[in-house]
Amino acid sequence: MYCPFCSATDTKVIDSRLVADGHQIRRRRECVECHERYTTFETAELLMPKIVKRDGSREPFNEDKMRSGLQRALEKRPVSVEKVELAINKLKSQLRATGEREVSSKMLGNLIMEQLIELDKVAYVRFASVYRSFEDIKEFGEEIARLGDAK
Ligand SMILES: [Zn+2]
Repeated sequence: MYCPFCSATDTKVIDSRLVADGHQIRRRRECVECHERYTTFETAELLMPKIVKRDGSREPFNEDKMRSGLQRALEKRPVSVEKVELAINKLKSQLRATGEREVSSKMLGNLIMEQLIELDKVAYVRFASVYRSFEDIKEFGEEIARLGDAK
């Protein structure tokens, strides 16, 4: 890749290590021209399964879309950005761990809800009420009642 400081094309890697539970490689690079140092992160995005939507259509997994869904649910809730990013990493690991080339949007939604229930119950309820289909509404009501009893 080009040096972000001087756009030289030649950089050398001076250090690389695994981060984020081994799902990312962090590389320290040094520009051969201007000698500035910077860091890059590499992730194997190709391993993410495609998402099969309710209507049967497929779409590539979209991390930004998942992040904005989580952020919408967590709006004005006392949850740090760091915790949200950890949850996103966990979700991505879970998706990769399926080993499937495709997973249903329903399964993805359930995984997201599992993370949200850990992060913040209000956010969980917000997300679930948007996400869940209308026929689940009774079951959903029972779940909210259970949440009221928990903790
Ligand atoms: Zn440079």
